[in-house]
Amino acid sequence: MILSCLDDDPRMERTLRRFAGSLGHEVRFQTTSQALREDLDRQVPDIIVLDLGLGTETGVDVLGWLAEHHRTVPLVFLSGHGDELLDTARRIAQGNGLTVYGVVNKANLVRELPDVLSRRSPPERPKKAYAAQAQDSLTVGGLREALRAGRITPYFQPILSARTLQPVGAEVLARLSLPEGGVLGAGAFIPLAEQSGLIMDLTRVLSERLIELEPQLRPLGLDFLSVNLSAANVEAIGAAAIVKRLVHAFAGSSRIMIELTETAVLPDIQQMRALTTQLRLGGASLAIDDFGIGYSSIRALAELPYDALKIDLSFVAEMFDSEKSANLIASMLHMAHSLNLQVVAEGVETEAQRDRLIEMGVDRLQGYLFGRPVPIEHFAASR
Ligand code: C2E
Ligand code: CA
Ligand code: CA
Repeated sequence: MILSCLDDDPRMERTLRRFAGSLGHEVRFQTTSQALREDLDRQVPDIIVLDLGLGTETGVDVLGWLAEHHRTVPLVFLSGHGDELLDTARRIAQGNGLTVYGVVNKANLVRELPDVLSRRSPPERPKKAYAAQAQDSLTVGGLREALRAGRITPYFQPILSARTLQPVGAEVLARLSLPEGGVLGAGAFIPLAEQSGLIMDLTRVLSERLIELEPQLRPLGLDFLSVNLSAANVEAIGAAAIVKRLVHAFAGSSRIMIELTETAVLPDIQQMRALTTQLRLGGASLAIDDFGIGYSSIRALAELPYDALKIDLSFVAEMFDSEKSANLIASMLHMAHSLNLQVVAEGVETEAQRDRLIEMGVDRLQGYLFGRPVPIEHFAASR
C-alpha cells in the first residue's frame, strides 16, 4: 500500500519508513500540510496518516481540505501525548464524510499500525433512524389519511436477556404502509406526527392494532412488550387511557412497558410527573428511552418513576472507537443500577459489542445482531 504521511516531527519519518517498509508499504512523508496537498495532487495514496498536532498549522484545516478534495482516501491518526482532542478530530473527519480507520499511538507504532492498516472497510456506523429515512417525506394530509385508513402497522424487534441470550420481550415500532405498496420507517412520519399534533391519534391506532394481535403474541410467552410514547403533544389523561386498555388487553400475556422519549417540545416537569404517574397507575412499567442524548436527563431519573433505562445506540456504536463512550456506558450502568433500574443496550450490531456489554453488566440487549424489526408473521415464525 502507499501511505502518505503528514507529521511535522521529522524523526517520525525514519520510524515509519523502517517499520511500514518492513511490512511492504511505501511511505511518502511530508512535514507541512502544503507538501501533503501537493503530494496528494500528484498521486492519490491508499491511506493518509495524519498527525494533528502540527506546530503552527492546525490539522483541522487539513481535514476540511481533505473532505473537499480526497474524501475517499481513508485516514489514520497519529497520536502523541495528551490527545484529548483526537476523539473530536475523528468526529470532525467523519462528520465531513471522511473515513477514519483508527488512531495509532506513536509510542506503540509497532503494535498498533499493522492492525489499523489491515482494516479493509471502515466500521459500520449506525445512523439514528430518523436521519436515515428523512427523504421519504410525507405530508400531514397523507399521514391523516393513513391514520384514517388504519395503515399504521406495528413491527416487532426482539429484546434479549443478557444472561440467557433468549428473547424476553419485544419493542413495538410503528410503520406506515403506503397504498401503492411499500412501507415507511418511523423516521418518515413520527416527527411529523409529533409536530402536527397527530401523535396521540397515531398512538391510539397503533395500540388498537396491537390489541388485535394479542392472540398471535400470547403464545410467544414474552415477559413484556415495549411501546413508544413521545412526550411531545401528549396529554397525560388521554395517554393513560390508551395504556390502560393495552395493559388490560395483555393481562396474563405480557407486561406493557412504555418507552418515553422526551423531546424538544417537552412539557414541563410538572406535566412529566403527571404523565409518568398516570402511566404507572395504569399498570405499565416505564423506560427512559435514548438515554444520554438530547433531552432525556439525569434530572428526570431523580424525579420520575422509571423502571428501566435504554442507553442510546450512539454510545454502543462508538464503544470501541471512543474510550469516552465506553466509559460513559459504564457510568450509566453504575448510575442506573444504583437507582434499581434495568438497563437495556440498543443498537447491538456485532458480537464484540454484545460480549463487552454483557461483561459490563447490561441487563438486556437489542439490535440487528439479534433481529431487525419485522411484521408479526415473521416475528412469530422466528420464535
Ligand atoms: P427508538 O425508540 O430509539 O427505536 C430504536 C430504533 O433503532 C428503531 O428505529 C430500530 O429499528 C432501530 N434499531 C434497532 N436495532 C438497531 C441496530 O442494531 N442498529 C441501528 N442502527 N438501528 C437499530 P425505527 O423503527 O426507525 O424508529 C425510529 C424512532 O421512531 C424510534 O427510536 C422512536 O423514537 C420512534 N418511534 C417508532 N415507533 C414509534 C411509535 O409507535 N410511537 C412513537 N412516539 N415513536 C415511535
Ligand atoms: Ca424506543
Ligand atoms: Ca432508543
